[in-house]
Amino acid sequence: MPPETADDPRWARIVARDKIADGCFWYSVATTGIYCRPSCPSRTANPRNVQLHETLAAAKATGFRPCKRCNPDGISIEEENAAIIAQACRLIEESEEEPLLNDLAKAVGRSSSYFLLQYVAGDYNCLHQDLYGEHVFPLQVAILLSEPDRDFEGGEFVLIEQRPRRQSGAAVIPLRQGDAVVFAVHHRPVRGARGWYRVNLRHGVSKIRSGSRHTLGIIFHDAK
Ligand SMILES: [Zn+2]
Repeated sequence: MPPETADDPRWARIVARDKIADGCFWYSVATTGIYCRPSCPSRTANPRNVQLHETLAAAKATGFRPCKRCNPDGISIEEENAAIIAQACRLIEESEEEPLLNDLAKAVGRSSSYFLLQYVAGDYNCLHQDLYGEHVFPLQVAILLSEPDRDFEGGEFVLIEQRPRRQSGAAVIPLRQGDAVVFAVHHRPVRGARGWYRVNLRHGVSKIRSGSRHTLGIIFHDAK
């Protein structure tokens, strides 16, 4: 086995179980006879037994078996979610009128509970975090489907940061129709004078004064 695996920058990404590296390369482990994607949750192999492959075809050509834990032949959850967002955004862009949620959900093969939120006059959404289930994907997306000042008034998207030993900071994110905001579900890293620390993040929607406001919300850890 190539002795240089431990020195290859890709090895550090395997050790870090870097999901962003998925799809960029694969690796095989001679001692177990399996091949994996970089983010595989299995115990890290000895790099002396590891061979890196630029393509999935090259990993398969080893004759090894695909790992059952990381399913290197399949599409990853990240890739699947990215594909669904791209598909939903394309549908919204291409349709003359705001697509109905049910149609949108059907078109991307998800239940309507995968998306959406509608707020009407007098409604607001208390500051909260969408934390449920066993696993939490750290980022979520909200796409505004309605046009501010035309379809509704009020209803701003608000983010509150709770910082240790400091006052909370609030930010109103100005969104137009079709804009997407990607934000942390729970914590966000912030660089301080003494290194990185994490702040607790909550999000919500201020009171709708008139009209109705539609949002497409995607919470990945709830995705089915
Ligand atoms: Zn694996």
